[in-house]
Amino acid sequence: MIDLRSDTVTKPTPGMLRAMTGASVGDDVLGEDPTVRELEARMASLFSMDAALFCPSGTMTNQIAINVHTRPGETLICHPLAHIYLYEGGGIMANSGVSVRLTGTPDGLMSPRQVAEAIDTSQDVHNAPTRLVSVENTCNRGGGSCYPWDVLEAIGQQAREHKLAYHLDGARLFNALAATGQQASQYGQVFDSISICLSKSLGCPVGSLLLGEEAFIGEARRVRKRLGGGWRQAGYLAAAGIYALDHHLERLPEDHRKAQRLATALQSLPWVEDVTWASTNIVLVHVEDLATADRAIDLLTKEGLLIGKMDRKTLRMVTHLDVSPEDIEKACTIIEKVDLGP
Ligand SMILES: *Cc1c(COP(=O)(O)O)cnc(C)c1O
Repeated sequence: MIDLRSDTVTKPTPGMLRAMTGASVGDDVLGEDPTVRELEARMASLFSMDAALFCPSGTMTNQIAINVHTRPGETLICHPLAHIYLYEGGGIMANSGVSVRLTGTPDGLMSPRQVAEAIDTSQDVHNAPTRLVSVENTCNRGGGSCYPWDVLEAIGQQAREHKLAYHLDGARLFNALAATGQQASQYGQVFDSISICLSKSLGCPVGSLLLGEEAFIGEARRVRKRLGGGWRQAGYLAAAGIYALDHHLERLPEDHRKAQRLATALQSLPWVEDVTWASTNIVLVHVEDLATADRAIDLLTKEGLLIGKMDRKTLRMVTHLDVSPEDIEKACTIIEKVDLGP
C-alpha cells in the first residue's frame, strides 16, 4: 500500500530507532531527562526563543498556548479553516473558555487588514475583548499554503499595537521554511509562542514542541501537567526528534517535489475539477460531489493507494518520508488509470 493519507503515518527509520533505544533518559516531570532537555534547548535556540516544552501532540501545544495567553471570556482571532478551531475538539472553548473571531482568505491565510478589522479591544462592557491572534503556517486546510514573511510581520505589528499575544501553529513550519527560504531564527523575533510537530514531516513517531519566553514556558509546564501531559522517560521520544533535526530536514524539498508531481498528474483527469498545490507537501483534489470523492477513495484503495478526505468535495494527499519518488510514480500510474466514469 502507498499511504498518502497523512504525513503522520511514517514509522521510525532504523537509524532513528537506534538513536531512540540508545538515549539517556530520566524523569522529565522532575526535569531530569537529559535528552528532553537537549531537544528543548536545541529547538529554542534554532528559533531564537528563550525556552521550549516537549509535549505529546500538536493539539496539546496549541491548547496550552491558548490557555496560557488568555483568560475565560476573552476572544482569539484565527482563520475559519484553522486546526485550533476545526480539529482540536472544541478545546478553545472547552479548555480555556475563550471564543473566536474568524477571518481570512480561501487559501487558509489571513491578511493584516483582516486581522486589524477583527481586533476588538474597546472598553465596551458588551464585548469579549481580543487577547490573542493565531496563525497557521503551513495551513493544512489551505493545501499547505505558506505566509510571506512581510505578512507575518505585519500581523505581528497589529498584535503588538493592541497588546495581543501572537501564536503560530507551526505543525508543518519546517515545510514552510523549506519552501520559502525563510530562516527559523526570524520566527522567534516576531511570535510570542510557536507550536511545531515532530510527528509530521520530520518522521518522528510522537511529539511536538511549544516555544516561548522563559516565564511563558514555565506556566505552560504547569498547564501540561494539568492536562495529563507530564511524561516520565520521554527522552526515548526526544531522541527521535534530535535525530530528525540532524537527518530529516534537508530532505523536505524532496517531499515538495513529490507533491508537485502528483498535482501535475491529477490536473488533467476528467473527474478532477481543480487541484491545489501550494508548494509544500500537501495536494488537495477538488471534485464535483461527495459521491465522486467516495468513489475515488474506494477505487484507489483497491489499486493500493490510500488517500484522505478533507471534506465532501475535497480529497487530500500528503507526501512524506515513507513514500519514495518511485512510489509516487506508481501512484501517478494508478491515479491516471482509475476510471470514475458512470
Ligand atoms: C497535525 C496538526 C496539528 C496537531 O495535531 P496532533 O495530531 O495533535 O499532533 C496542529 N495543527 C495543524 C495545522 C496540524 O496539521
